[in-house]
Amino acid sequence: MPSDKDQRPSYTPAVHGGAPQQFAHDSLTLPIIQTATYTFQNTAELVAYMEGQKDREEYGRYGNPTVRVLEERIAALEGAQDAVVFSSGMAAITSAIFALVGQGAHVVLFNDCYRRTRQFVTAFLDRFGVRHTLIPSADLNALEAAIEKDTKLVISEAPTNPFLAVVDLRRMAELCRERRVKTLIDSTFATPINLTPAALGIDLIVHSATKYLSGHNDVMAGAVAGKSGLISLVRDVRDMMGAVCDPHAAYLVHRGMKTLALRVLHQNESSQAIAEMLEKHPKVARVYYPGLASHPDHVTAKELMRGFGGVVTFELKGDMASTGRFIDALELPCIAPSLGGVESLVEQPALMSYFEMSTEAREKIGIKDTLVRYAVGIEDTDELIDDLQKALTVAGIPG
Ligand code: PLP
Repeated sequence: MPSDKDQRPSYTPAVHGGAPQQFAHDSLTLPIIQTATYTFQNTAELVAYMEGQKDREEYGRYGNPTVRVLEERIAALEGAQDAVVFSSGMAAITSAIFALVGQGAHVVLFNDCYRRTRQFVTAFLDRFGVRHTLIPSADLNALEAAIEKDTKLVISEAPTNPFLAVVDLRRMAELCRERRVKTLIDSTFATPINLTPAALGIDLIVHSATKYLSGHNDVMAGAVAGKSGLISLVRDVRDMMGAVCDPHAAYLVHRGMKTLALRVLHQNESSQAIAEMLEKHPKVARVYYPGLASHPDHVTAKELMRGFGGVVTFELKGDMASTGRFIDALELPCIAPSLGGVESLVEQPALMSYFEMSTEAREKIGIKDTLVRYAVGIEDTDELIDDLQKALTVAGIPG
């Protein structure tokens, strides 16, 4: 049987996906319908709408034509029936979870995941009587053991943040389906160019569209894609919680997505070259990149993914201070959280996402002081490599 990655989907839906559109005033590009509400010509039109005979918008929190076009495009790229768009990735994740769990439910979460998702599940949901089990990343035996009678949802990222673990999504989907448990994958790091979880049987696919989908570090948005019935449940939560995507933000994501394939293919290539260079470098202790044979999930990643993504995580020899000197010596990437944009970004997680934790507490979850997360942009690959090599030389790192 050909593997998923051999069946490369067309990249064309990034430019043309969704229902064919004839935009207002024959505009080629997506018009921004900047309105909070929609008018009815008369009472007859209102009644026709209320009776379901007329398909149109009613109020800004329930829908917007600009946002709707983006939703259809994301669904087309993911090979999903429908999608719903939010004001941020976290709004998308939390709404999807709220749609699927209630009091007494149990959630299973892989421990190597975006810090705020973990916090939401482990430190917030219990207020509502939702229990959880955290399991080691990509460990399907642990998943099987963790599923209980009340388990409603299993959550993972693919690849995970920051160690880029890749769980066998096909097996995970099968295992959960047999037990009537829904699966949610945060596919932000992979993008639909590298991985299409719906084709592997995953129920809900979530994106921080702030990252690769929009691709220019200039907008925040999130999305959930999946089967229409489930998406309608998630949409209901959005309509109540109100974390709607602003139409201008939707326009920016839609515009950015037109170049998604070009950007991601280049980022895949640069990241592979950077990871290979770093792995051979005497001042680098360890590199985490699913495209390297040394990555624990390389075989799974090769089986499922068409490319390995634009984030390279590595540990330097040395300590917190020399790692800081290395980062300061880099000239091309900016020091910033986030990833997936055209500009390369770099961060030392110990000083950013995990700053409030002690070195010991961080080490327990594998975040060393010398860990670096490098989010590769679309700059020239050779220039990024030169810049990294120079910084490694001048930072006073042992090795
Ligand atoms: N998921 C992943 C994997 C992320 O890295 C992030 C943010 O960094 C989020 C979700 C949250 O997305 P947002 O910042 O758009 O709310």
